[in-house]
Amino acid sequence: MSGQTGANQPRRLAAAEHGLGTSDVDPDALHLMEQLRSAGYQGLLVGGCVRDLLLGLTPKDFDVATDATPEEVKQLFRRSRMVGRRFRITHVRYGRNIFEVSTFRKAEAEAQDERRHSDSGLILRDNVWGTLEEDAFRRDFTINALFYDPETEEIVDYVGGLDDLENRRLRFIGHADVRLREDPVRILRAIRFVAKLDFALDPAIEAAIPETAEQLAAIPPARLFDEVCKLFICGRAEAAWAFLAPTPLRSALFPCTSPEDPFVRLAMRNTDARIAVDKPVTPGFLLAVILWQDYLARYVELTADHKPAEARSGAAAGALGFQQEIIAIPRRFSQFVRDVWSLQDRLERRQPRSILRVYEHARFRAAYDFLALRADAGEPLQEAADWWTRFQECDRGAQENMVETLRGQKTAGEGGSRRRRRRRRNRPKQAQADSNG
Ligand code: ATP
Ligand code: MG
Repeated sequence: MSGQTGANQPRRLAAAEHGLGTSDVDPDALHLMEQLRSAGYQGLLVGGCVRDLLLGLTPKDFDVATDATPEEVKQLFRRSRMVGRRFRITHVRYGRNIFEVSTFRKAEAEAQDERRHSDSGLILRDNVWGTLEEDAFRRDFTINALFYDPETEEIVDYVGGLDDLENRRLRFIGHADVRLREDPVRILRAIRFVAKLDFALDPAIEAAIPETAEQLAAIPPARLFDEVCKLFICGRAEAAWAFLAPTPLRSALFPCTSPEDPFVRLAMRNTDARIAVDKPVTPGFLLAVILWQDYLARYVELTADHKPAEARSGAAAGALGFQQEIIAIPRRFSQFVRDVWSLQDRLERRQPRSILRVYEHARFRAAYDFLALRADAGEPLQEAADWWTRFQECDRGAQENMVETLRGQKTAGEGGSRRRRRRRRNRPKQAQADSNG
């Protein structure tokens, strides 16, 4: 990306041409940029919000780019704080929103070059500020490098992003293989944008996939977790997975999955449907689905010489532990996965004495959704899933009747063990102790 400095005249699109007005922009963001300007700085919208507005989509958030340094931004806005180390930005709380304000900076390659040739002060500060133009070129994709200047109401395009938006094409700024080597995580961003926007992927990006998949091994697992989550909750997880599954990216990220697992595909679709109607989603649920086959395989292996409960927890630890080497799974999510898995057996078996305890479990609803999805994916669980569906629709009295009916069925089915069962029911402590999971 060298030789760009000052050399290019950007394409400028006037309001009448691009059709956006300040009324499309969050008023707090407008106000924030106005304050930057009145303090003598530049302030423009950049990235996803400009892209989405031009596509007629609702932006997730409004990111601001400025020539003010983070310290200067901090001084200007009382309710702000600097975050990030690799990329130092400032979060400015404004009205009810928090805005990301980032200082214009140079492309990483150029910044590194500069650091190499300058005194150590710059090396410690992993941020090399730049101009508006340099800031455009350091960004990942052309469609993510468009600026909206609220003062002139112009779109400013240094990189051909407007053309690519028009042609619905995702292209890196510069050479795909160079930009991917700089930061292999960008391949996951590429898949997310292609899926979310239904754009065509530049063949140069596609060609770089195998090499990039290998490079993902060097990425810190915590960063991969963040990026994979964004992929799963972009609203088009099914498309993203369909793209990823047949490539070496799937085996690099989730070695224990198979490309054609119908359960995973359904879960992605289900997640998209929930997001479409603003229902909550958690990455824990999708991780539980993705790792389910591995968990089952480990469970079967462990049952050979372990008790079922031990085999279950051993299988969970094994499957999660293996995945953690690649993608860090924060504790709250791995616990969620364990809970959902360990509830499966209890939901399937429907032991009358533990129905209410299962029902009141904090993860019941997620575990039930998981069971229903397994049934949809072809496991022979439809009867159990339907039973739990009905159970949730009943009031307490009817629920007790359902449990009684179940008890009758179970005892009729296992006539010989009736006496033992009755004895056990009278000793609740022990009954609890031998419950599953
Ligand atoms: P979303 O709608 O998901 O927020 P976004 O394009 O705003 O999409 P962010 O992750 O919020 O994505 O990043 C904001 C902007 O920062 C991007 O549009 C892009 O210009 C730049 N950016 C983010 N990550 C990278 C990266 N890894 N390499 C280069 N530029 C990046
Ligand atoms: Mg964004």
